[in-house]
Amino acid sequence: MKLYDTVIIGGGGSGLTAALYASRARLSTLLLEKLTPGGQIALTDLVENYPGFPEGVLGPEISQRMEQQAKRYGTEIIYREAKSIVRKDKSFEINTAKESFEAKSIILASGASFRMLGAPGEKELTGRGVSYCATCDGAFFNNKEIVVVGGGDSAMQEGIFLTRFATKVTVIHRRDKLRASPILQERARQNPKIEFIWNTVIETIEGDKKVEGVVLKQAETGEKKKFKTDGVFVFIGHEPNSKFVKGFVDLNEQGYVKTDAHLQTSVAGVFAAGEIREGAVKQLVAACGEGCEAALAVQAYLEEHFG
Ligand code: NAP
Repeated sequence: MKLYDTVIIGGGGSGLTAALYASRARLSTLLLEKLTPGGQIALTDLVENYPGFPEGVLGPEISQRMEQQAKRYGTEIIYREAKSIVRKDKSFEINTAKESFEAKSIILASGASFRMLGAPGEKELTGRGVSYCATCDGAFFNNKEIVVVGGGDSAMQEGIFLTRFATKVTVIHRRDKLRASPILQERARQNPKIEFIWNTVIETIEGDKKVEGVVLKQAETGEKKKFKTDGVFVFIGHEPNSKFVKGFVDLNEQGYVKTDAHLQTSVAGVFAAGEIREGAVKQLVAACGEGCEAALAVQAYLEEHFG
């Protein structure tokens, strides 16, 4: 089995930047990605706050460019999901369903996945009106009425994007104040196709073969009412993709990986960067910064332990 200097798990902004820095440092670098490179950013329509792109840059485009840049310097990318990591003397074995890989160091960069509502009907109707990705599914809702759940940046940004297709987007938020940044709040409030229902949660998603409506519950009074809709887009935050390292490195109560100031986890030689990490600010530019930092920490670790 080839012994890599470093194996990076996850190909979002943090993983691809770590790969770029590691391979430019002439480390033999393998990046494992379970789906497509880019992570959450590949599912985002327009990234407007990555410096250097005053007009914004399409999420899939910047993802592909980052992938090309890492590959150009020698990063090997294999499409596998890491299932577990085992310590082997001075190295680590990363196991996937198909095969195992061996590395002197590891960067955990597997990010986070969309949180689900947990409402009855949600699972059954996912892909049949329930969605977590506006870029992927928005076009299916041309001239339809949809609801968006959540009050954060994702709900506002994706809700605005969905007005390109839908005739009406109703944002359902569990409080009476949005969490989103002021600029996105302003844009959403000014959009004539967007309406808000405050202090309300979705209790059930209804429909036979596809979404036909939801049952809304007023948070304060508990009053319930039916609301007709063709689609439900859920943007209520994320859960860290850290199950495969539970018991291997220390996690906090929410499952985020704990690191020290140099992004090292509780296991020497294993680092974490981006949204999987406790305390990460969850912005593309910050994820890229952490990827760079983790790759530099890996170089220092390898020099100290392997010469
Ligand atoms: P978020 O900021 O955690 O917001 C999640 C929203 O969903 C909150 O409004 C929350 O309500 C609500 N929520 C959570 N659990 C819920 C539940 N079970 N039922 C109903 N509502 C629920 O998540 P996000 O919007 O996905 O953003 C994640 C991070 O990415 C943030 O740091 C954000 O700034 C960043 N981001 C940035 C941009 C950008 O800069 N353009 C775009 C997208 C995301 P409460 O407010 O009551 O907690």
